[in-house]
Amino acid sequence: MSASKSFLRFSLAFVCLLVMVLVISGCQKKEGEAAKPEIAQQVAASSLSMENLKTAYAASAKNIDWYDKFSKQAQKENLGDIAVLFKALARSEKVHADMFATLLKTKGVEVTAPAAEPLPAGKARQYLKRAASSEAVEQSVLATYEKVATDEQFPEAAELFRRSRGADERHARLLGRAIEMETNFARLPYVMCPECGYIVGSDKMDSCLVCKLPKEKFQKI
Ligand SMILES: [Zn+2]
Repeated sequence: MSASKSFLRFSLAFVCLLVMVLVISGCQKKEGEAAKPEIAQQVAASSLSMENLKTAYAASAKNIDWYDKFSKQAQKENLGDIAVLFKALARSEKVHADMFATLLKTKGVEVTAPAAEPLPAGKARQYLKRAASSEAVEQSVLATYEKVATDEQFPEAAELFRRSRGADERHARLLGRAIEMETNFARLPYVMCPECGYIVGSDKMDSCLVCKLPKEKFQKI
């Protein structure tokens, strides 16, 4: 009887101990699980590429605003081809702004469009030149961003910078052509890859040159 009582006590003590161990290890696991993404987020948030994504987002947002305004100015001057080109560029920049904002959001950073900057006074043809030189600068900045993201082992950011640069290269070519030609130059309507904002130059393309999206998904502007 006494032996069975002490066995019972021993069993109870063992069960209590087991429960305590399970509870403690459960708590530790939960804390560990909660801490992991926080640490990952801190590392990502402090990386240079996160700052570059924010800067690239702000630049695209500003371009949307300016290209829309450039387009309206061209309309006022009855330069329909230039107006449509700027409209196409604004749409492409919208794709870039959205892709940068989406990636930032997955890393816990919400961005909002910066306040509109006053438009420098000018005529549509002057705006073509201004846009061409700013697109050229952006391409070299994006190339640097892409390299930094690759070095920081942040492949999603590197890919977005690459895509944006590929589309901007096309913007610069279209602007260059518009500057050279004095009369009508547009091949209407413009067709764009909705994935990377590349403005498609030829119907013969089966897929986007920059991101390989099949041509069935291209959009007319
Ligand atoms: Zn594409």
